[in-house]
Amino acid sequence: MERELTNILDEARRSGGSIVALTGAGISAESGIPTFRGTEGYWVIGSKNYMPQEMATQEMFRRAPEEVWRWYLYRFGVCKYAQPNAGHRALVSLDRALGDRFQLVTQNIDGLHLRAGATPNRTHCIHGDAAFVRCADACSHAASQGELGEQHGKLPLPDMGVRGADTPFTEADRSRLSCPRCGAWLRPHVLWFDEYYDEENYRMQTALRAASQASLLLVVGTSGATTLPMQIGELAFRRGIGMIDVNPEENPFSDLCQASAKGFFVRGSACERLPEIVQALTAFEVSGPVV
Ligand code: NAD
Ligand code: ZN
Repeated sequence: MERELTNILDEARRSGGSIVALTGAGISAESGIPTFRGTEGYWVIGSKNYMPQEMATQEMFRRAPEEVWRWYLYRFGVCKYAQPNAGHRALVSLDRALGDRFQLVTQNIDGLHLRAGATPNRTHCIHGDAAFVRCADACSHAASQGELGEQHGKLPLPDMGVRGADTPFTEADRSRLSCPRCGAWLRPHVLWFDEYYDEENYRMQTALRAASQASLLLVVGTSGATTLPMQIGELAFRRGIGMIDVNPEENPFSDLCQASAKGFFVRGSACERLPEIVQALTAFEVSGPVV
């Protein structure tokens, strides 16, 4: 392992401070889930190609809810059959070793961190979670508990069967995706590009608080294209805490790491590099001889 990286990890371990991991689509790439930057993100409606930035919007959902649902159900299917990888598992080891001194902030909606064994109340899904839906008219609120099977105002995604990119949207799909309370569309519990972060659905303040208390920020597989993750990176940089970025490509977080006295850019994939990083962070101290 690079000496500078070893020094940052040793210091973080000895400090006994808390660690925040911030993950993006890159950590799930080796589980076979495409990121948004690749060409796999396109969706074809008629003869036109749409980018995720156009599909994942409230505006598109208002205009063409069935198409937006067809796209999500296809993508959710890919997530459902994917398996957690060595990168997810390494972060679970860190979670187990550090307990409350560890917080995970993820942009991924694929559920793989939780399926790998991450502790739910330390895992903050700042872009939502594909396993849940909520009323598009927001007829209930986060306090709704138990009633109609809601958990914090959200319902589990109904079983929609196996969906390919060409699976048509049927009347039965429409009724499964109707709010049991008011009959409006249910929407995916995900943050769309024309919406804002909040605490109620997306744990914005919780994520910022974790970053303002951490002594190390470990960024994995994110391109820095969204605002809250960048805010977290900039906060860590201003505070001068340890900062590691694992990514095969340069990105705004690697720039911050390179500009920081306590930062290091680990060029490589999550599966290749996270296990050794976590091992260094959780290694037992070898104590000197007792005299
Ligand atoms: P992104 O698609 O913008 O960027 C992915 C980043 O991962 C890139 O910087 C890339 O270089 C890096 N990367 C690729 N392979 C990697 C690997 N093996 N190991 C480590 N890094 C790797 O992703 P983003 O920054 O998360 O933002 C995209 C948005 O899309 C987010 O809002 C996210 O919620 C959503 N999204 C989620 C999923 C998912 O849940 N798995 C998938 C696609 C998109
Ligand atoms: Zn409703």
